[in-house]
Amino acid sequence: MGKTKHTGPMKLPKLPDPKLWVSPIPFGLGKVKPHHLRDTVKVVWENRDNLSYAARILTQGVCDGCALGVSGLHDQTLAGPHLCTTRLNVLRLNTMPAIKDEVIFQDIHELRKLSSTELRKLGRIPYPLMRRKGEDRFKRLTWDEALTIIADKMKELDPKQMAFYLTSRGITNESYYVAAKAARLIGTNNIDNASRICHSPSKTALKRSLGIGASSCTYKDWIGTDVLVFWGSVAANNQPVSTKYMYAAKRKGTKIIVINPYHEPAMDEYWVPSIPDSALFGTKLADDFYQVNIGGDIAFMHGIMKHWFEMENEKRGSAINYDFVEKHVNGFDKLKQHVEQYDWEALEKSSGISKERMKELAKMLAAANSGVFVWSMGLTQHRFGTDNISQVANLALLRGFIGREHCGVMPIRGHSGVQGSGEMGADPFSLPGGGFDKETVERIENVWGFELPKWQGDMVGVSLENALLPDDHERKLKLYYMSGGNFLETMPNPDFVKQCLENLELRVHQDIIFNTSTLLDAKEAVIVLPAMTRYEQPGGGTSTSTERMVYFSPEIKGPRIEEARAEWQIFVDLAKRVKPERKHLMNFQDAFAVRAEIAKAAPDYDGIQHLKHKGDVFQWGGAWLCEDGICPTEDGKGNLITVELPELRKAEGQFYATSRRGKQFNSMIYSERDPFNGADRYDVLMFREDAEKLGIQDGEAVVVYNRHGLFQGRAKVENVKQGNIAVYWPEGNSLFPKGVYEQYAGIPEYNTTVIVEKAETFYAQKDVKYKEKRIEELEMEVG
Ligand code: SF4
Repeated sequence: MGKTKHTGPMKLPKLPDPKLWVSPIPFGLGKVKPHHLRDTVKVVWENRDNLSYAARILTQGVCDGCALGVSGLHDQTLAGPHLCTTRLNVLRLNTMPAIKDEVIFQDIHELRKLSSTELRKLGRIPYPLMRRKGEDRFKRLTWDEALTIIADKMKELDPKQMAFYLTSRGITNESYYVAAKAARLIGTNNIDNASRICHSPSKTALKRSLGIGASSCTYKDWIGTDVLVFWGSVAANNQPVSTKYMYAAKRKGTKIIVINPYHEPAMDEYWVPSIPDSALFGTKLADDFYQVNIGGDIAFMHGIMKHWFEMENEKRGSAINYDFVEKHVNGFDKLKQHVEQYDWEALEKSSGISKERMKELAKMLAAANSGVFVWSMGLTQHRFGTDNISQVANLALLRGFIGREHCGVMPIRGHSGVQGSGEMGADPFSLPGGGFDKETVERIENVWGFELPKWQGDMVGVSLENALLPDDHERKLKLYYMSGGNFLETMPNPDFVKQCLENLELRVHQDIIFNTSTLLDAKEAVIVLPAMTRYEQPGGGTSTSTERMVYFSPEIKGPRIEEARAEWQIFVDLAKRVKPERKHLMNFQDAFAVRAEIAKAAPDYDGIQHLKHKGDVFQWGGAWLCEDGICPTEDGKGNLITVELPELRKAEGQFYATSRRGKQFNSMIYSERDPFNGADRYDVLMFREDAEKLGIQDGEAVVVYNRHGLFQGRAKVENVKQGNIAVYWPEGNSLFPKGVYEQYAGIPEYNTTVIVEKAETFYAQKDVKYKEKRIEELEMEVG
């Protein structure tokens, strides 16, 4: 798509810049901050039984943590080492031995007493297992027995009554691709992946605004851009090495702006371990913070655009990049009219940001010649997530911050598989290299050699709910085949999710470890299949980073879980058993054959077939998508999208609530204590005056509740936007509504309104009516 190629890693300046230091006191003594050295020692100790293998994974493999992307210890952005404690923490998943037999075959009630963290530490799943309804322990199966049972059940069912799901941790493009093909060969379009619950609105919005489904720029564009905006993203925590890029950007004079309801300590100050002066004295990252209301981002962005139009009334060209807009953008007049209709009062109320502050950022962006917008789940996990992202695209289009150096829009991904999963077609709305439109369907039918099912597949949330449909319903979900994932701890409303999972006739967990979902009952049986990690797969595997780099991770010599199989091979075997008459269509001899077919099926991935060795990588689409302002839309132009301000209703005294991450990787928790603010996982982050008004002391027990659920924790006074609170994810998931999905991308709503009370007050009011009356006041959800 773009003609310019990525130019490879650049060097950091040799001399330090004391102006960026947090303090002259070394190592942030006395500050609440992560202890990288201590954490690293802990990881070495954890992996002591397999240290040389662990070292080979780190030096030869592609990180299976977040999607910042790194091969071995080097990336494409900056020269020098690239390693973080997130990668080190997940390392043990790859080096630990199998779970002991006496643990696996103990009473299921004993296993259920363990948390997901404890289950993870038991070790790897060693061989196929099954537990039928009523049985109180797993029994061992052969692969042949396990796959025969699953295939026989699939043959018995209508394809609409089964679904596949693939998580995003560690799974390779090869596995996503083969799963996508296997599902369609078996006859179902019910296949979805973990991006549904994190970045699906980014893809949907970028498609409608710019015709693209990925970051338009690279990390190198951060370094030297005039303004780098992080919107609802705590990159410093979730993609830790991004702080090194931020450091490099600051050294080039880039201003960093953070927009978030919580003044995230990690985005404020950071001690980058691989940069000596930063490791010693810290680096001040954010130049300014805008603490927006949860769900108030659309209003904030309208405020910025409104002021730009006001500036234009004073002086043409003072804010809008007309050169760009006139040549490359549709819908300018309509957007202008739409934005101007809102008065400042409404924008201030919804965003929680004063007119003056909105104007301040508007002016800064108007004066900038370049800008990059980075966002994450603070924007996507709303029932209006797609609209949120379209507004970011609006800002970029109006300023012409697209398709050139130091400019772009970037949905920064948290997991190594997220970018590739949809691009490989493991998605009800996508096929490899495209959507589910007629043209792509025909193209894929030609490559795959069979007719695809044409009905619209369901996304993960709906598939789960379909398990509760009446038995004779055409879409009653009876079999769910899951590669990784733990819906009990990732979807809103765990009680409801449990009901859905237990109502399935057959549940298959293809995974490397047990989690709490694996242990639930099913109406007929639960089957557990041992998967290989990406480092064990014969022929290696690839994964795609946020900036569209397709990295090759080789097979790495080391100990093996004897019966574990490469995930793509399991899907091949299964599809052949369900459709023996079509088995010649799934005839992949090795991983190279899979990559060769991906190159044909997904034109952007042409080049993947040549990846063979450690460090092999290519970037699809070139350095910039929409280069020179030419978007891959029908008329080559970007589309400005008008959206309404979301209705955010909360009664006096109630709070907007959202969730945040601590020391964890997805739902895998690595510490009960958040290293950036010292919070416990059951802490409720509140603004000081809000707590005081309720007579709540810092550290006091509180109850947070609404009509969806109840959460018991402790108040922690933090710099959160007034009227808003944050709870940790997934612990606070009981507060979020079930069955509320964003209308375009289907992401579940992870925000709500709540009442917060002192636990003492709550429990003194034993009268149920009291609670019901309070809950009635919560008329609707907010984002
Ligand atoms: S920042 Fe992300 S890609 Fe880089 S090492 Fe850490 S987890 Fe891996």
